[in-house]
Amino acid sequence: MIIVMRTDGEARDADAVKDKILDLGLEVCEAIGVNYHIIGMIGDTSSVDAESFKLMEGVEKVIHVQEPYKRVSRLFHPENSVISVNGLSIGGEKLAIIAGPCSVESKSQITEVAIEVKKAGAGFLRGGAFKPRTSPYSFQGLKEEGLEYLKYAKEVTKLPIVVELMSVDKLELYEADVDIIQIGARNMQNFDLLKAVGQTRKPVLLKRGLSATIEEFLTAAEYILAGGNENVILCERGIRTFETYTRNTLDISAVPVIKKLSHLPVIVDPSHASGIWWMVEPLAMAAVAVGADGLMIEVHNDPKNALCDGNQSVTPENFKRLMDRVREIARIHNRKL
Ligand code: PEP
Ligand code: MN
Repeated sequence: MIIVMRTDGEARDADAVKDKILDLGLEVCEAIGVNYHIIGMIGDTSSVDAESFKLMEGVEKVIHVQEPYKRVSRLFHPENSVISVNGLSIGGEKLAIIAGPCSVESKSQITEVAIEVKKAGAGFLRGGAFKPRTSPYSFQGLKEEGLEYLKYAKEVTKLPIVVELMSVDKLELYEADVDIIQIGARNMQNFDLLKAVGQTRKPVLLKRGLSATIEEFLTAAEYILAGGNENVILCERGIRTFETYTRNTLDISAVPVIKKLSHLPVIVDPSHASGIWWMVEPLAMAAVAVGADGLMIEVHNDPKNALCDGNQSVTPENFKRLMDRVREIARIHNRKL
């Protein structure tokens, strides 16, 4: 439930509303802007009498919120959230371009790719160290050694690093070494993991589950915000459909839908969405055209011999071309790369 306060009201009116909410054993979520003053009520509001709030001094209206997510909802936070990462912003005018290999394979591989993507204009370096693989016989990542190589590549390029966290027991290590903690599609509803990253203040990149609805996706993000961590970036990475030509189907409409429903930044991963390297550029352009706040692109210096996701990885040369084309689309939206 949301209480919309009159903007010309007295501070004591808002205080009275907040006290009443707290007295009911519920939590308060407040947003104040130039033209709005919203007091959200979080918790089980099923037995709350909306009429009793409507009669209070300074209250303009009371809105019932049907959705299971609250803190993630734009109703509770009308302005776009901008997440800051090591002095950079995600969700602002500049698009966040996260690029790098699916997995860290060696110190020279990750460093070489990092230098190349930085040259082409990427703002963040990605690389998997602990990999969620469908088959237990596939390459599982270099684990701690991979993290060390990522840190080295970061030292060389100064690019903040984005790395997937698979289990709670590595959280402390990630808090120390990683700039953005990625929660992969397969773990979107790993509620223990979501609660754990909710307790940190590290930015979290949450990827949409393979078969998750937008509501399930936003409700998963709610777990992180409910823990107190508001630094969440959402990532549309394709969903399971009947189509088999592509690895997944990029749900391009998820971008405007999520921008409407939520204040959180949304980026698109056309690499996992398509699974095909030559589709990455057109899908990246489409993503920016529909208002995505950034992109996550898999780039490999030798895709044919990649240990993971070579088929969907673009070469540094193709990444540079992609950036040039995406820059043109961004310009139309008054956004920068
Ligand atoms: C990845 O980013 O390497 C990855 C495994 O992605 P997803 O969780 O979207 O499949
Ligand atoms: Mn991958």
